[in-house]
Amino acid sequence: MDNITPDSKVKRVAFHTLGCRLNFSETGSISKGFTDRGYDIVDFGEEADVVFINTCTVTDGADSTCRNLIRKAYRSSPEGKIVVAGCYAQMEAPKIAKMEGVDLILGTSEKYKVFDYLDESDELVIKVDKSADFFGATTTDSDHGHTRSFLKIQDGCNYVCSFCIIPQARGRSRAIAPEKALSDARQLIESGYKEIVLTGVNIGEYEEASGTPLWRLVESLLKLDGLERLRLGSVEPNTITDELISVLKSSPKAMDHFHVPMQSGDDQILKEMRRRYSVADYRKIIDKIIKHFPNAGIGADMIVGYPGESEEQFKNTYNLAKELPITHFHVFPYSRRKNTTASRLENQLQHAVKKERTRALMMFGEAKLSMFAEDQVGRRHQVLFEKQNEQGLWEGYTSNFVRVQVESSANLRNSIQTVFAEKQMGTELIGQILH
Ligand code: SF4
Repeated sequence: MDNITPDSKVKRVAFHTLGCRLNFSETGSISKGFTDRGYDIVDFGEEADVVFINTCTVTDGADSTCRNLIRKAYRSSPEGKIVVAGCYAQMEAPKIAKMEGVDLILGTSEKYKVFDYLDESDELVIKVDKSADFFGATTTDSDHGHTRSFLKIQDGCNYVCSFCIIPQARGRSRAIAPEKALSDARQLIESGYKEIVLTGVNIGEYEEASGTPLWRLVESLLKLDGLERLRLGSVEPNTITDELISVLKSSPKAMDHFHVPMQSGDDQILKEMRRRYSVADYRKIIDKIIKHFPNAGIGADMIVGYPGESEEQFKNTYNLAKELPITHFHVFPYSRRKNTTASRLENQLQHAVKKERTRALMMFGEAKLSMFAEDQVGRRHQVLFEKQNEQGLWEGYTSNFVRVQVESSANLRNSIQTVFAEKQMGTELIGQILH
């Protein structure tokens, strides 16, 4: 590790990002701001002039990881500026302020203004005012390793799901103007990205926030020259319209991969969570997706151990996930978040119960993804290759989001190849490139 000397010319910055894709795209844009100002990006854990931690507060696990990262940053860069930004910073600034080494605490709106505060004196600076402005973000080359790029089209959320702290952390829903989304996308394409993933907190609220229906934005993006693949991030089931499905269906650039949060397979729990759909509605939307995209990969978030969740209610979630063609399970044990409606409920479940239900559903999810992978064997897939793994195999994703490995002496990074899936290995595929 190089030491930083007083006359070092090039300043160094290290990043660590926690949480959702949105956070990653925001770090991407902030890191571009640093490189534009002449900084070198170094790995987190290396000594740096600035350490930027983009935090998450969606669970108490995320909170404690953030605190550990702050300690690690201070150990590796005792002389550097330690910036703690994002959702956890927004919600828990006073707690973070007590931690040794922290120089700057920037909330969800202020994190983009980091450059305004970097030169402030050695006093701790806390900026957590929320703003109704929309700050655009895209991943860039400096966000190591990705060949998929993330384009932020929406932020914040106007829903009031009882368990969720995000509306408090990120504020009201707002969105990027369609013209700006298109110009950001053009820039990503020009920088060489072949795939764009649309991200936001609740992208189904795009129309409410921008005045333009989401399907129209998607339609325009799909027409962009040079864009080869477009993937949607998570979309609330009640916001998936027929128009959106038909626009996606009309273009081979649209990936047959959907992420539709379920949260629970029990009507009573869904109601208590203040979700905007019933089990029957959820079923209907998944059936519709499959009718139009028969080989789709479908991801679903599920919260287990919501306050008062009975064994039977948990089974309803398990059984719904089993019956429906959900392929990618994202299982979260319910985490009590301060100042949310659900946190005030008295019938909180014991940690051990939540842990066991999470384990059961996750294991089942793994088995289901393996079955889906098995089902893909013997088919041809278009795969966007990302990197070479330690065994020398090239890895990438199919359109329906199954990881594929192939052997090749060519450099496949960021190339789309037709691959024949020869066999399944756990949740992944082993294939052969067809020339
Ligand atoms: S839709 Fe519900 S769960 Fe998703 S961010 Fe908004 S409040 Fe949270």
